[in-house]
Amino acid sequence: MKIQAAVAYPGETEFKVETVTLEQPKDDEILIEIAGVGICHTDIFARDLAAVLFNDPAVLGHEGAGTVVAVGERVSKVAVGDRVAVTFRSCGSCGNCERGPAAYCEDFQVLNMSGKRVDGSTGLTGETGQLAGNFFGQSSFATHCLTYERNVVKVPESIPLELAGPLGCGIQTGAGAILNSLNAEPGTAVMICGGGPVGQSAVMAAKIRGCRTIILVEPQASRRDFALEHGATHAIDPAAGDVKVAVKEIVPEGLEYAFDTTGIESVIADAAACLKNRGALGLVGLSHVDASLPVKINRLAGAGVRLIGILEGDSEPDQFIPELMDLHLAGKLPFDKMITTYPFEDINRAIAEQHAGECIKAVLIP
Ligand SMILES: [Zn+2]
Ligand SMILES: [Zn+2]
Repeated sequence: MKIQAAVAYPGETEFKVETVTLEQPKDDEILIEIAGVGICHTDIFARDLAAVLFNDPAVLGHEGAGTVVAVGERVSKVAVGDRVAVTFRSCGSCGNCERGPAAYCEDFQVLNMSGKRVDGSTGLTGETGQLAGNFFGQSSFATHCLTYERNVVKVPESIPLELAGPLGCGIQTGAGAILNSLNAEPGTAVMICGGGPVGQSAVMAAKIRGCRTIILVEPQASRRDFALEHGATHAIDPAAGDVKVAVKEIVPEGLEYAFDTTGIESVIADAAACLKNRGALGLVGLSHVDASLPVKINRLAGAGVRLIGILEGDSEPDQFIPELMDLHLAGKLPFDKMITTYPFEDINRAIAEQHAGECIKAVLIP
């Protein structure tokens, strides 16, 4: 079938929206008509590395939500007409999938980032030939996408379908980091570095968890203000002075938890320095390939400080995404407030405005 998709051409910095051909679903695939798709930093990361990651121009997008329009013969989890949010893909049968969380699937890279199905095909053809697809098992920067049972979670009628996609990546990553990975205890002090969608979701989750002190470190005033309206008790502008000094004024005894969404070494080093004994630092922001941390071994071995790498908020999507939807419906996770919608054709403008901080989370509406 002919669909519209945003295609990333290796070496080019803008997506091109064009007509491409999508195959009908194979036995284990689900065809979705996209109602909305969020833009996540990993899409930009993959666009800029398209020449390295994929051989062909690629259709990215991994925060899709929409309506099931066809299913393969072996699909029983959803049926035509179901409303679904689409998350990352996992195999469901490796040791890590069986133990959970599924984000640490031993085949995560192949299933989410290879640009292909496991049989090597992609299901997508463009004007110049085969397109890389299957990004996070969805490639949802398009009017339609193919996905899999383990990617989809049903969305109740009470949640606007077009806004549900970010639950599948950015929001579950931020909220999951606090609620699952760090498992922050009520009454504790937590600092969140970076006020993008992942950081703001973490702020909301820290409030849900009953943390006593919730500090956001973020250079943009509008994002600091947003956090203060949605759960943060303090916001620090890192340009205004030494973050460590500012934190010490708020929490002289130090933090139980810090969560970094920036991937910036100096920010992470400062966050680690603010932890009290047995404090934990969660890391979710990807960095450059050679980035590393000068960690004082005696802080870890001598004070029980913990460093935790986090993927997708340690989410088991079938359990955690419905929990997030329930929290949203109870008014406790107003993630819709951070979303600005854009017409699908305006993908490049949406990315530019998200990057410039003019919106927190951009969602494209095909
Ligand atoms: Zn993402
Ligand atoms: Zn697996």
